[in-house]
Amino acid sequence: KVSRVIFQSYHRSLHTSNRMADTIAKNAWAGARDGFNGSVGRTPLVRLNKLSDETGCNILAKAELQNPGGSVKDRAAHFIIKDAEKKGLLKPGGTVVEGTAGNTGIGMAHVCNASGYKLVIYMPNTQSQEKIDLLRSLGAEVFPVPAVPFNDPENYNHKARRHAESTENAIWGNQFDNTANRQGHYETTGPEIWEQTEGKIDAFICATGTGGTFAGVSSYLKEKSRDVKCYVADPPGSVLYKYFTTGQLERTGDITEGIGQGRITENLKDAPVDGSLHITDDMSVGMVFRLLYEEGYFVGASSALNVASAVELAKKLGPGHTIVTIICDGGYRYQSRLFNKDWLVSKNLFECIPEKYRKGLTS
Ligand code: PMP
Repeated sequence: KVSRVIFQSYHRSLHTSNRMADTIAKNAWAGARDGFNGSVGRTPLVRLNKLSDETGCNILAKAELQNPGGSVKDRAAHFIIKDAEKKGLLKPGGTVVEGTAGNTGIGMAHVCNASGYKLVIYMPNTQSQEKIDLLRSLGAEVFPVPAVPFNDPENYNHKARRHAESTENAIWGNQFDNTANRQGHYETTGPEIWEQTEGKIDAFICATGTGGTFAGVSSYLKEKSRDVKCYVADPPGSVLYKYFTTGQLERTGDITEGIGQGRITENLKDAPVDGSLHITDDMSVGMVFRLLYEEGYFVGASSALNVASAVELAKKLGPGHTIVTIICDGGYRYQSRLFNKDWLVSKNLFECIPEKYRKGLTS
């Protein structure tokens, strides 16, 4: 009898707590976001005032570094994992395996921790130590492997795929060719930019790694208005500038982590491209320090490359235009490189930092 009373009262309290949970969840929508996954996206769009005034254009940056895992790749991580769950490919307690230069892995580590999955990462050993350390601190199992081209079976992406294939209840994120990545930007980043500019946007420009950000945003914006010009910004090591201007694929080296592509990925395929601008390492590194000391943003090289490309596009289009680009992540992940004098000198990049902005460099 006692046990029945206990059982009934347990049942009642469960019922009450479920009702309370409902109420709490509903209340959450009034202001708070729904856990880590619910806090991905809806980032601010920021007018970079000095650069805007200087060019006579509105240079607007989508502050993706304000995502909860700290980068634009939180969106891809969230959408790739959500898509696998929806398709029944990933079940509770499963494993996500990914090949990533860092930020996708960081985003996935957060999403996996919040959703109860294990994470295994393969990455090229050319990436910064901060990113490797951070991934391990976030609970991922990390395998840095030699950086070899995509068509080599030992490339980090193929290693990740094979690991997932030989593990039960595991998925390979496949961020380069899994179009859930691009779809995430089509469903969120693109509409956010359109709403935040109230449709008054002349151009969008950013560099590509997987191409997910560029393709998702550009496809959405073009659907809203054919007049929005969409440009790919490209670092010297990547092939896309040459591909979009001459049709040839050819690769050299560059210093910008996370971007620059040697092939047309599934995510980038058929994206609407009006043109491509070539941004050198000197321009990107110079912009890292202008963004820090003139605009107040501490960013990584790909963000600086994007902003430098928006400035170049402003010069090309002339005053009076509104140009949107992406701040991909913060400078915290690159302190040992971009903010280290010895590294900058070794890459011949020290001279492109204005003297008044060198005070914070370490050596
Ligand atoms: N910047 C950084 C720092 C990145 O890590 C990445 C993704 N590798 C990008 C830009 C490019 O984004 P996407 O993969 O969507 O083209």
